[in-house]
Amino acid sequence: MRNPAPRIPGRRLLHSPGPTPLPDAVLHAMSAQPMDLADPRVDANIAACEDGLRRLLHTQDANVFLYAANGHGAWEAVIENLAAPGETVLVPGTGHFSEQWALQTEALGRQVVRTPWREGLPIDADAVGQALRDDKAHAIRAVFAVHTDTASGVTSDIAALRRAIDAAGHPALLVADVVASLGAIPFEMDALGVDVAVGASQKGLMCPPGVGIVAVNAAAFALAEHNPAPRFYWDWVRRRSDLSYRKFCGTPPQNLLLGMEAALALIFGEGLEAVWLRHAQHARAVHAAVEGWREGGALDFFAQEAASRSHSVTTIAVRAGIDVDALRSVARERFQVSIAGGLGPLNGRAFRIGHLGDSNPALMLGAIAGVEAALVARGIPVGDGGTRRAVLSLAGA
Ligand SMILES: *Cc1c(COP(=O)(O)O)cnc(C)c1O
Repeated sequence: MRNPAPRIPGRRLLHSPGPTPLPDAVLHAMSAQPMDLADPRVDANIAACEDGLRRLLHTQDANVFLYAANGHGAWEAVIENLAAPGETVLVPGTGHFSEQWALQTEALGRQVVRTPWREGLPIDADAVGQALRDDKAHAIRAVFAVHTDTASGVTSDIAALRRAIDAAGHPALLVADVVASLGAIPFEMDALGVDVAVGASQKGLMCPPGVGIVAVNAAAFALAEHNPAPRFYWDWVRRRSDLSYRKFCGTPPQNLLLGMEAALALIFGEGLEAVWLRHAQHARAVHAAVEGWREGGALDFFAQEAASRSHSVTTIAVRAGIDVDALRSVARERFQVSIAGGLGPLNGRAFRIGHLGDSNPALMLGAIAGVEAALVARGIPVGDGGTRRAVLSLAGA
């Protein structure tokens, strides 16, 4: 028999940009017995999730489709419904996440036009406009744009993409991946002219991983209806039904949806504006700490422009020779703060502090100070003003 794991006194702070910590109310809501599929509570729970998500996305009448899946499942739903094999979509470069979505699209037999990723910068809307103007035959079905690239820690301007598509006079649909930004910063699907929004449960929504979210407006649904691509589980046409068993192509992930209903109630109970403000304040505190740490000469922001730094996650580039895995391990095991590493091209070049979802000033200061302690323990020069700057930022001083 294995020895029991040693007890961790207190609570470990989870500061990955997803999964994020679960509020007690979400945990409690999920600890319920499953229901028989004809129980009206099943339908009421699903309706509450759909309505809450429409409210969160600021859309009047987009269809919300929920999948027992992660964000990659929601990506696959978009690919399968909006383009047939051999057809083309445009993926503007944002870093690791845009490239993964592009590769998944190509793996499913679709063609991808990319605009270049500019490291540390948001999407180049001019390049998107040019790519669309170059597409004289209007072969591009949709633009798949990542709002906040969780690897880069950069948020792009979706309104600028809408303007670029319109200015090019191109009929491509606009799809926004808001997995990392939904519930953290304003996103108004209808007002922005976004045709499809893609989300997942385990980031700003404060739920466990396991529910993929797609909101689809009438134009996108019409395209899907005429798309001959063979599909079944992901099919929006098949899922648009009043029967929950059809909506989910089988049994809904009931306990996760009970958690989601509770999480949405927390968000609207706090007030959406208050939630956005809280995320902005927490992001500012982390940014203030990084301003201090960078004076040591070993660390810096990866996102070059302050204005496009994400309110969900901060990506911190490290000088060559710093062992990011060892830093994360010291932070997690000794100081009880879980942080994320660099993804894809940033593997070994950066670490990331998540500041999205359920948090408060004390938790943020604990995380920032814990990361600073791990940096110091690893002998990484960070000056001595990082945490102090975060305190001053949160104190409004
Ligand atoms: C996390 C994330 C995904 C992928 O979600 P998974 O649930 O890990 O499949 C997609 N896009 C963005 C922007 C993300 O942050």
